[in-house]
Amino acid sequence: MSRIASQPTGHQCRKCCSFCDRLVHPSGCLESGCEYLYLYDDEQSGRRFMGCMNKVFSVEIDLELFHAAQQTRVGFGGVRMTGKPLERCRSSVERAYLGNGSPFDCVNPTFFDSPVAADDAFDLRDAL
Ligand code: SF4
Ligand code: SF4
Repeated sequence: MSRIASQPTGHQCRKCCSFCDRLVHPSGCLESGCEYLYLYDDEQSGRRFMGCMNKVFSVEIDLELFHAAQQTRVGFGGVRMTGKPLERCRSSVERAYLGNGSPFDCVNPTFFDSPVAADDAFDLRDAL
């Protein structure tokens, strides 16, 4: 469904057994009409992919598979966040494991704070 493996970033926390990751939801990119969303057609496969010009997420997503997933009850969901999001970026934190007791007690609550860029704009040179 996606073509480029995302790299480890500061968008993951492993300080307790919950194992949390920040995710970006590409549905929000399409709905907001974000100018940083790009689409391209791959000549070899004939498939259309979408990605974020500023690498808020680094994977490139097969558009047809995305729309098919959106028709299901759970939807496409999110992909791993790899860059600094803007206000408009739809994001969430996903816990990989749910459990009881101190091993699952959060010791890093600020991880749930939004890491949104202050000026809601990218300097495109940052992506070079
Ligand atoms: S900047 Fe945010 S909303 Fe725009 S394409 Fe990238 S992830 Fe999506
Ligand atoms: S619950 Fe808190 S401490 Fe545990 S992995 Fe998530 S953010 Fe980190």
